[in-house]
Amino acid sequence: MTGSTPSSVDMNEALLLKAQFPGLAGGWHYLDTAATAQKPQAVIDATINAMGRDYATVHRGVYARSAEMTLAFEAARRRTAAFLNGREDEVIFTRGATESINLVANTWGVDNLKAGDRVLLSTLEHHSNIVPWQLLRERTGVQIDVCPLTEDGRIDLDAAARILTPAHKLVAFAHVSNVLGSVLDVRRAADLAHAVGAMLLIDGCQAAPRIALDMIALDCDFYVFSAHKLYGPTGIGVLWARKPILDAMPPWHGGGSMIDRVTFEKTTFAPPPQRFEAGTPMIVEAIGMAAAIDWLCAVGLSRAEQHERDLASRLRAELRRRNDVTLFGPEDSAGIVSFALDGVHPHDLGTILDEEGSDGTRIAIRAGHHCAQPLMDHLGVPATARASFGLYNDESDIEALLKGIERTRRIFGQ
Ligand code: PMP
Repeated sequence: MTGSTPSSVDMNEALLLKAQFPGLAGGWHYLDTAATAQKPQAVIDATINAMGRDYATVHRGVYARSAEMTLAFEAARRRTAAFLNGREDEVIFTRGATESINLVANTWGVDNLKAGDRVLLSTLEHHSNIVPWQLLRERTGVQIDVCPLTEDGRIDLDAAARILTPAHKLVAFAHVSNVLGSVLDVRRAADLAHAVGAMLLIDGCQAAPRIALDMIALDCDFYVFSAHKLYGPTGIGVLWARKPILDAMPPWHGGGSMIDRVTFEKTTFAPPPQRFEAGTPMIVEAIGMAAAIDWLCAVGLSRAEQHERDLASRLRAELRRRNDVTLFGPEDSAGIVSFALDGVHPHDLGTILDEEGSDGTRIAIRAGHHCAQPLMDHLGVPATARASFGLYNDESDIEALLKGIERTRRIFGQ
C-alpha cells in the first residue's frame, strides 16, 4: 500500500479498502464494526471455496480431498497461532469469544476455584466476561470483585493493585472496551495478577481487529476473541492459553475428535487442542478466519490501529464542538466512540440515522447497553449511541454522521 503517512490509511486507500467490501456497496455509512465487521471479498471467496469447490471433512478421510482439507484446516490454526505469536497447540477453535470464556470457566474454573477464592473483573466488562463467572460462582462459591474505572473510563490498575490479594485466582479484563474504546495495559495487568499468583484472562474481542497481538509480550494466561469482529465469519472464535495450563485442563464437551481411546469402561482424551474440540470442527469457518487474518495482516495492524484511533479522535473533536453532546470514554479511544445527544434517546437517534437522508445517505450506528449493563449503571445512563470504526471507514462516514445528528436535532427541536 502507498501513502504519505505509512503508519495510517489515507483517503484513497480507504476508498480502495471500502471497495473490497460488497456489504458496503451503495454508500452505506457503516459505523457498527464493534458489533461485527463487514467482510472483504477475499474472505467471502475463501469461505465459498471451502464450502464448495474444496469441501470435505477433516482428519478422518482417506481420500485426497479430505487430506487437502485437513491441511487447510490445520494451516488455519498455524495462521492463527502466528497472528497471536503463540504455539499452534495453544490455539483452541471455539464458536466465539463467549464460548471461549465459558470453556475456561467450565474447565479451568471448575477444576481450580473453590469457595473463598476470588475473581477480579472490571466495571466495563461485556456480559460475556461477567455471566460465566457468576454461573461459576453458583457452582463453586467463588467470590467476584469488581475493579473500578478511572475518571476517563479505563480499568484502574492502581485500584486493581490495591484490591488484589493471594485469594484472587483469576483476573479477567477486556483488552479494549466495546463501549468506551479504552485500552488496557495488559502487561501491567499481567504483572499485577501474577504478583498475587492469579491467572490473567484477556477478552480481546475489540483488540484483535485493531491492535497487533503478541502473547509472549502481553504475558497473559488466556486470550479470547471472535473472528466476526476481525473481518472473518461468524460461528468461530479462539481461546488461546499457555500450553501447560491447557495440558492440565479437563475436557468440557465430550464426543468425537477429542478422544484418544474409548471403551465403555474408560475413555482417554486427546491432548490439546483436540481435547477441547469435540465433534466435526468449524472447517469452513476456520479457513474463513485464516483468510481474514491474512487480509488484516496484509493491510497491517499498526495501520489499522492508527487509522481507527485517528477517526475516533476526529469524531470526538467534532462532537465536542456541539453543546448538546455528552462524550463517554478516554480521548485516546481505539476506534469506538460512545455518546449521548441531549433530549434524544439513543434508539431514536439510531433509527433516524438509518432513515435515508435527502442526499440518499444511511448511517448504521449502535444504540443500547452494548451488553455492558453494569457499565451503563456506572455511567448513569440506560443506553448510549456508539459509533465504531473499521478499516473501511473514512472522513465521509464522520461527515455523514454529523449531518445525521444535525437532522435528528432539527426533528427533535432544540
Ligand atoms: N467481549 C467484548 C468486548 C465484545 O465486544 C463482544 C461482542 N460484542 C463479546 C465479548 C462477545 O463476543 P461474541 O458475541 O462474538 O462471542
